[in-house]
Amino acid sequence: MSASHHPAEALLVDYASGALRGGGRMVLSSHLMACPACRDSIARFEAVGGALLSALPPATLHKDALALALARIERPVPPAPATTGPIAGWITTPADVVRAARDRRRWAAPGVWVASVTRGPGRASTYLLGVAAGMTVPRHTHRGAEMVCVLKGAYVDDDVRHAPGDFAFNDDSVDHRPGITAEGDCVCLVFTEAPLVPRDWVGRLFQPLVGI
Ligand SMILES: [Zn+2]
Repeated sequence: MSASHHPAEALLVDYASGALRGGGRMVLSSHLMACPACRDSIARFEAVGGALLSALPPATLHKDALALALARIERPVPPAPATTGPIAGWITTPADVVRAARDRRRWAAPGVWVASVTRGPGRASTYLLGVAAGMTVPRHTHRGAEMVCVLKGAYVDDDVRHAPGDFAFNDDSVDHRPGITAEGDCVCLVFTEAPLVPRDWVGRLFQPLVGI
């Protein structure tokens, strides 16, 4: 299985350079775990970044620079982000996502559950959203960026199917009403810079219940 919908190149560059942090990085990491093509791109961008660094003119070092660098090297290396075994039927995700799914899942409305993964900065939020087969998310748009990675099942947005591993980027230019396919429930990892903006009365009822 390989993903059909990928992040824009600029986002992959931000990931490779470390500029993409927090929840957005977590959503993109989940896509990378399922997408060898984007992993290759990241490796290429990292190589280019390394080459650019080595091409910079040498700078005069602080007299303690060597001691500081050695002290850093000797510090124990933090464990690599664990890729906790998949929850049955899900693609592999970062360990924080698995923990949120196991510990913080709550039913928000009939057929809908949410689990907060991280909050902040500001109004940003990263969460898991599980929606039952055949249901439609009320029409809404966004304030700022939203990034989504499908972990299980599939949804259709504007006639385009998004399946496990697929990545989606939405912003305030998008006004949509994604629907879960009939095959089974769908779980997505979602990062939003700010809460959704409901576009109809169903959404206005739904949003406080679900809290997204
Ligand atoms: Zn990809």
